[in-house]
Amino acid sequence: MRRVSVFGATGSIGVNTLDLLTRQGGAEAYQVVALTGGRNVDLLASQARSLRAEIAVTAHEDCLPALRAALHGSGIEAAAGAGALVEAAERPADWVMSAIVGAAGLAPGFAALKHGTTLALANKESLVTAGPLLLAEAARHGARILPVDSEHSAVFQALVGEEISAVERVIITASGGAFRDWPLERLARATVAEASTHPNWAMGQRITIDSASMFNKALEVIETKEYFQIAPEKIEVLVHPESLVHALVGFADGALMAHLGAPDMRHAIGYALNWPARRDLPVARLDLAAIGALTFRAPDLTRFPALALAREVMAIGGTAGAAFNAAKEAALDAFIAGQIGFLDMARGVESVLSEMSARQGLGNVAISLDNVMATDAEARARLHQSISSGKV
Ligand code: NAD
Ligand code: MG
Repeated sequence: MRRVSVFGATGSIGVNTLDLLTRQGGAEAYQVVALTGGRNVDLLASQARSLRAEIAVTAHEDCLPALRAALHGSGIEAAAGAGALVEAAERPADWVMSAIVGAAGLAPGFAALKHGTTLALANKESLVTAGPLLLAEAARHGARILPVDSEHSAVFQALVGEEISAVERVIITASGGAFRDWPLERLARATVAEASTHPNWAMGQRITIDSASMFNKALEVIETKEYFQIAPEKIEVLVHPESLVHALVGFADGALMAHLGAPDMRHAIGYALNWPARRDLPVARLDLAAIGALTFRAPDLTRFPALALAREVMAIGGTAGAAFNAAKEAALDAFIAGQIGFLDMARGVESVLSEMSARQGLGNVAISLDNVMATDAEARARLHQSISSGKV
């Protein structure tokens, strides 16, 4: 039986992953090693019971008693905290879903690679903050990383049987998020509730707000560079409001291969779960005649400065990705807490990035786990500092 673990099981990607594991036979077909979550211990415990997991881990120490109580009598181990997440990741598994949100997903995913596992990577922050490190660790242990972002899964599928050297460009699409057509004046006043809705995708709150600000697409551009080792100038973003074309790959002979599908993450998750095979998945089939038309336009960098920041991050290199992501996470926290406005997020991230690259020359810092974590902590502190000093 294939041994599987799901990190971030209680989130949007996690729940969809468990849905597929259950449809494909559940505990009869898979030996479920670890499932992890946050404060939602009742959901985590019921997931662990239904899939007969070996261990359930909550990220929060103070949730351990509640998790223990919810698992009472099941024989399933309970654990808590960041260290326990890494220990759970060190338990051998053949397939591991990395779907914790944010930089917190890096350490468990990194640890899981030691067993030469297949890491299904939804946690794009891992590639943005420590791409070269993650790929080197995977290569060292004969592990494989499969993308679980709809765009990157699409690119990956378009590249099957192709030479990467024949790739002229990679185009990832963006729905444009909740504020695609909003003018700047209105964006300045956008509320958390308004930013937390997405026209096409049902996702966790953080990535949904990142979609509205296009920080999500900014992370994805860097993710594309890191995962496929493609030069930044070959990566394009195209606004496509229907979210049916997920990515396109252009080749040296002028061919452009597009990947289309319903906006349902179970496609990308299922592709990574069953790879290299394809199995029947419970996603809607597109009726293109009924859809009639697909539309595309260039992104507006004035209203969505995050995209330009991604270019800067790639040009700087080193630990700039870690600084960028951490400043973005802290800015997002501040926006959700009502401390700063919607457009202040990009302003704050930009100021942290320029301060840090001027002072430490982020580009010259070697990418190690320690350096990534130190850069992460400093970027968060600087972002908080710029808020409290009124700079943002
Ligand atoms: P979510 O907020 O719905 O779920 C996040 C999961 O991580 C939950 O299980 C939560 O308990 C856990 N978690 C949160 N903070 C944690 C911490 N500090 N330590 C340990 N665990 C923690 O998020 P999501 O939308 O499922 O996204 C998960 C990841 O997948 C993100 O990196 C996101 O960018 C990526 N992703 C999501 C989608 C999507 O459709 N939701 C699409 C592409 C990529
Ligand atoms: Mg995506």
